[in-house]
Amino acid sequence: MSSTGLDALREEALVCTRCPLAPTRTQVVFGVGDPNADLMFVGEGPGAEEDKQGIPFVGRAGQLLTRLIEGIGLTRDQVYIANVVKCRPPGNRDPQPDEIEACRPYLEGQLGFIRPRVVVTLGNFATKLLLDTKDGITKVRGREFPYRDGAVLIPTFHPAAVLRGGGTALAQVRGDFVVVKRALARAGNE
Ligand code: URA
Repeated sequence: MSSTGLDALREEALVCTRCPLAPTRTQVVFGVGDPNADLMFVGEGPGAEEDKQGIPFVGRAGQLLTRLIEGIGLTRDQVYIANVVKCRPPGNRDPQPDEIEACRPYLEGQLGFIRPRVVVTLGNFATKLLLDTKDGITKVRGREFPYRDGAVLIPTFHPAAVLRGGGTALAQVRGDFVVVKRALARAGNE
C-alpha cells in the first residue's frame, strides 16, 4: 500500500552491507513494478544482466517471465517482481542460508507494503522460504496454498529451469499461470 515505506526500504537496501554478497555486486536489485500490485513474483537472485541493470528478470529467463506475464493478459508494470536475495551471487552460484536470512527482512518488507493477493514463487529457493516447506518444486507447483491475510501462494518452476527443460516444462508453467490468472480473478471478486 504505502510506496513511501517501500521507497524507504529500497533506500536502505541500496546501501546494504549485511551479507557477503555486498562486496561483489555491481548494484542492489531491489524489485520493480506496481507497489499496489495484486500479483507479486519472487525469484531467486539477480544474474549477470540484472546486476548490470539493477532490474530483476531482464536476462533470458526474465524475457520468458515477461512473456508468461503477458500470456495472462498483464504487463510487467502491473505486477511486482522481486527476488529472495537482492544481490548477485558470484558466478550465479546458489544463495547461501546466511545470505537468504540476512536479506529476508527486505523481502518481508516488500510483501508487507505491497500486500499482494497472489504470490508466485519461482523455483525452489523462493518456494521453500515462503512456504516453509522441504517439498521440492515438482511436487508443489501449480497448486494454491493459503498465504497471509487471505492471500494465496502459487509455486511454479523458475523460468531458467523452464529454458533448460524445454517443451514439457514450458507447457507445465503455462498451466500454472492459468491457475494464477484464476486466483487473481477470484481475488478481484472478493
Ligand atoms: N533469476 C532470478 O531468480 N532472478 C532474476 O532477477 C533473474 C534471474
